[in-house]
Amino acid sequence: MAAETFEFQVEARQLLQMMIHSIYSNKDVFLRELVSNASDALDKLRLEALRDDTLGVDVSDLHIAVEADRDARTLTVRDNGIGMSYDEVVKLIGTIANSGTATFLRELKEAKDAGAAEGLIGQFGVGFYASFMVADEVELLTRRAGESQGTRWTSTGEGTYTIETVAEAPQGTAVTLRLKPVDTEDGLHDYTAAWQIREIVKRYSDFITWPVRMVPEAATDTEGEADPQAAREPETLNSMKALWARSRDEVSDAEYHELYKHISHDWLDPLETIRLQAEGTFEYQALLFIPSHAPHDLFTQGHQRGVQLYVKRVFIMDDCEALLPSYLRFVKGVVDAQDLSLNVSREILQQDRQIQMMHRRLAKKVLAAVKDLMAGSAERYATFWREFGRVVKEGLLSDFDNRDAILGICSFATTHDQDEPTTLKQYVERMKDGQEHIFYLTGESRQAIENSPHMEAFRAKGIEVLLLTDPVDEVWVEAVPAFDGKQLRSVAKGEVDLDTEEEKQQAADEREQRQQEYAGLLSWLTEQLGEQLKEVRLSTRLTVSPACIVSDTHDVTPALESMYRAMGQEVPRVKRILELNPGHALVSGLNKAHGERGGAADLAETGELLYGMALLAEGGELSDPARFVKLMADRLERVL
Ligand code: ADP
Repeated sequence: MAAETFEFQVEARQLLQMMIHSIYSNKDVFLRELVSNASDALDKLRLEALRDDTLGVDVSDLHIAVEADRDARTLTVRDNGIGMSYDEVVKLIGTIANSGTATFLRELKEAKDAGAAEGLIGQFGVGFYASFMVADEVELLTRRAGESQGTRWTSTGEGTYTIETVAEAPQGTAVTLRLKPVDTEDGLHDYTAAWQIREIVKRYSDFITWPVRMVPEAATDTEGEADPQAAREPETLNSMKALWARSRDEVSDAEYHELYKHISHDWLDPLETIRLQAEGTFEYQALLFIPSHAPHDLFTQGHQRGVQLYVKRVFIMDDCEALLPSYLRFVKGVVDAQDLSLNVSREILQQDRQIQMMHRRLAKKVLAAVKDLMAGSAERYATFWREFGRVVKEGLLSDFDNRDAILGICSFATTHDQDEPTTLKQYVERMKDGQEHIFYLTGESRQAIENSPHMEAFRAKGIEVLLLTDPVDEVWVEAVPAFDGKQLRSVAKGEVDLDTEEEKQQAADEREQRQQEYAGLLSWLTEQLGEQLKEVRLSTRLTVSPACIVSDTHDVTPALESMYRAMGQEVPRVKRILELNPGHALVSGLNKAHGERGGAADLAETGELLYGMALLAEGGELSDPARFVKLMADRLERVL
């Protein structure tokens, strides 16, 4: 078949452009990416050979070979792993599947300076395309295990690639780079030099579980003299030691970080490394990482979890969701169990008692690590919470056992401080004498919540309120009854009573009297607005606004109601309560007029307007906006 030329998908083309005009300064990482892909391909082949004994491939010497040709200035990274079919090459190398790519590219365009752009590339990682940082042409020759023909792919990275079927190709994949000229200024080292290759593999890929061999032809040193270390035999460059099985003081942070990058395809260092060595009847080691930023697809279905399962040093599966709860899905790492069967399936794992024990222990370990992070570094904890807080809060709904631990690592925006969020513990420490509850209000944004009429009395009394703006907040606050024995209370629900005992004595008579004065108006309005409202009553939470709407203590809030609807669940409409502020001239005036003229039509309209205004003030939606506007316009016209 003749070679065909194809265009790269738009996103892929944009990424390639960036690689060619390299905005990433550490060019050496291209080799890490190629070795990492080769290692994955070997893992895959080993597993496939285990499952399918008709595959007929030799898996006795799986390895990665690095070959340099100084004269031709080429570098080849070869593996005898799973390889790719023709279609796979088109799909995997010609397009970018990652759902976050579009977002990423948009952000990249907006990035002001080179530093910011480099940071973004780092967050994203670009795998195979990193080759174009150091090469002006790349050839990939591959044959999938079990297939007879191979595929050759070549590109200069400029818009198109050529692809053809070839009769002869060794099984596995060989990526050959035609290297750009050495330019140390630009970070382009001599990647044909044996010492350079040796150093880069050692630095970035030492822990790779397959041998990375340098083939003798390449084994000459910078001066061109024969390198005694690599005389004839291929030289294995990596120690292949599993970092998780070594003791803490044997492994440097840099080594842990490289393992993290291999597993996560992230180019940035992790925020935290967590080690766990379980001894005893069920022995396992875990090395987990909290990334320093959230991936773009954390909230999309099908987001890949990052924990790999090994059994006795042998890779078993990526993305092992049985090992950690969903609300910790951003954690990456390796778990190596000693006593599992090598051909466990995902289905079996979900049921396995030992896996369930590991799951519990690992979840606790991660939560404890975040707690330590909190105590150790306010800045790092702030990063953690900014990136992953929304996900962690999901755990308040699903992980009953760890609820207190999760609450302990949460933080929330608060009226106490414009910028700094607060933990619940800090909130409780600041609670006023006699304050029994932890108060919060949910809403769209900090500003919307702060301007809500519900906040007025709390502001007047100087009582701190948590400002909850994540969609998940609407849900967990319903499920979590208390923290440290203090109930969580919405300031938009139930009656509020912020008075001290003394104030209560004083206010009691006054209130009683008011209640009598307003009784007629309240029952009349309750009847008038009965379609929409449960009750109209006097408010103790307003100081400035004429009216607000509140929910009964145990009722579902409107935001939650609409969330349930959006998820396709049937929920009955919950009627709420209109509260009037007798201290407001509009309300006292209405009461007076009602006393004189009873249920006149214009007074009923005033009631309707009050209700509409209260709805608008909390960011709600009017059921008949046109009618509201008409009533309002008529009123305004009359006062002109
Ligand atoms: P990533 O590794 O982050 O998925 P890459 O662009 O590096 O992105 O690679 C895309 C895909 O191409 C890989 O996920 C893998 O399926 C395939 N691939 C890359 N290199 C190899 C290889 N050496 N052998 C087999 N498949 C490979």
